Amino acid sequence: MVSNKKALEMIDVIADMFPDAHCELTHDNPFELTIAVLLSAQTTDRSVNKLTKHLFSKYKTPEDYLAVSQEELENDIKQIGLYRNKAKNIMKLCRSLLDKFDGQVPSTHKELESLAGVGRKTANVVMSVAFNEPSLAVDTHVERVSKRLGICRWKDNVGQVEDKLKKVVPKERWSKTHHQLIFFGRYHCLARSPKCEVCPLFDDCREGQKRYRAQLKEA
Ligand code: SF4
Repeated sequence: MVSNKKALEMIDVIADMFPDAHCELTHDNPFELTIAVLLSAQTTDRSVNKLTKHLFSKYKTPEDYLAVSQEELENDIKQIGLYRNKAKNIMKLCRSLLDKFDGQVPSTHKELESLAGVGRKTANVVMSVAFNEPSLAVDTHVERVSKRLGICRWKDNVGQVEDKLKKVVPKERWSKTHHQLIFFGRYHCLARSPKCEVCPLFDDCREGQKRYRAQLKEA
């Protein structure tokens, strides 16, 4: 693994590449954001936005989701993956919001994680984006980038990746860094075809060097 100092230097380079990184899930309030994040599991933000454009005009409150059958909701979201499970979780989430939180999305990690379908990542995103609390959610992009750059070990789990990043990055930058690492993973260090040949981190990146050596062998 690289030192914390080197890790922060690399994150600074990424920050310079994507200074305006932000949440790309379309939403107007914490409730819509929570539903959008829940829908985004193993699906692109673009697909979720396409879906929620219509979904959020039909369903505006937890009561709206509970007023239909689960089958109807499944039908309304069936163009994205895992729709049956997601519909079930959305209904459970809405029930908990009404039963325990007066229909409002709570603003603490503990309360958020008590909701159906809301894990650590979703809670972190909601805390950060909806409530402006320093938070560093680890999604597939953040995890991949952190491991490729040697900020974390390949065998680290998501919680360990989050803990390491929080040690390296100053707290006031956690939320922004989350979005910058996502943009870096989504638009530059892509899962299947990272842009190593034009990457400013190539000299420090073991994964990039490994890929380069493999290409040379093939040539
Ligand atoms: Fe990703 Fe390649 Fe850059 Fe490494 S060199 S961070 S693998 S794009």
